[in-house]
Amino acid sequence: MSDEPRFLNDVTVELVKHSASDTDVLWAARVSTAGEQSLEEVGKDPERSKGLINYLMRDRHGSPFEHNSMTFFVSAPILVFREFMRHRVGWSYNEESGRYRELQPVFYVPGHERKLVQEGKPGRYVFVDGSPEQHKLVTEAMEGAYRQAYAAYQEMLEAGVAREVARAVLPVGLFSTMYATCNARSLMHFLSLRTKNEQAKVPSFPQREIEMVAEKMEAAWAELMPLTHAAFVANGRVAP
Ligand SMILES: Cc1cc2nc3c(=O)[nH]c(=O)nc-3n(C[C@H](O)[C@H](O)[C@H](O)COP(=O)(O)OP(=O)(O)OC[C@H]3O[C@@H](n4cnc5c(N)ncnc54)[C@H](O)[C@@H]3O)c2cc1C
Repeated sequence: MSDEPRFLNDVTVELVKHSASDTDVLWAARVSTAGEQSLEEVGKDPERSKGLINYLMRDRHGSPFEHNSMTFFVSAPILVFREFMRHRVGWSYNEESGRYRELQPVFYVPGHERKLVQEGKPGRYVFVDGSPEQHKLVTEAMEGAYRQAYAAYQEMLEAGVAREVARAVLPVGLFSTMYATCNARSLMHFLSLRTKNEQAKVPSFPQREIEMVAEKMEAAWAELMPLTHAAFVANGRVAP
């Protein structure tokens, strides 16, 4: 691998493994009334199925949305991972180790579409476009600081210092990688907090970079569970 830093303005999210479909919600819910027959009921009446999922979502009967699993590979700056791992319930994580491997020089620099200027009160921030000069400053300041930090990291490694010690100089703009596994219910809770959406009954104001991850996860999930996703949106993006 090259020691020359790479600068990225986007995140990577790949759905690597899944067992998740709308029927998983249906058979779990219908055990209430159909007992062991609930599996046979699946697929009998599509309109009724849509109605049942919508009812469960609206009345926040959450547990039928837990009988499924999605594993995502995520590559994003450490600042995103710090926020992501606050989501404790219904999520499993494994992240690359800065103790066991040499960290690669891949760093986050915001793209031109990233709004740079914060206005308004805490918790109700609005972000507006930065000027060309501000974008230039951000790019130059970040790239310069990243290069300097990575050079110091390399210098320590070359002098025989342990990776777990030398990594202290690396910034939160460094990219890391993880696998994150969740179910539809825990994903909906995450999406309700980490996306900003006009259809949301309860607005949230997430950092743009974690929202970029959330949007890619939502797109993958919507393909797997279209009825569940539609019900989530129709009911104001409130997790059941
Ligand atoms: C816009 C935004 C700004 C934020 N700003 C900050 C900040 O400034 N500082 C900061 O530290 N964090 C901040 N956070 C993180 C936030 O406080 C939560 O830690 C994070 O959103 C995860 O939410 P959660 O606890 O609901 O999720 P999970 O940990 O996945 O929990 C899911 C649900 O399980 C239940 N639950 C989980 N654990 C417990 C428990 N111990 N006791 C009772 N019920 C529990 C709750 O109902 C919870 O909603 C921010 C989050 C957002 C979205």
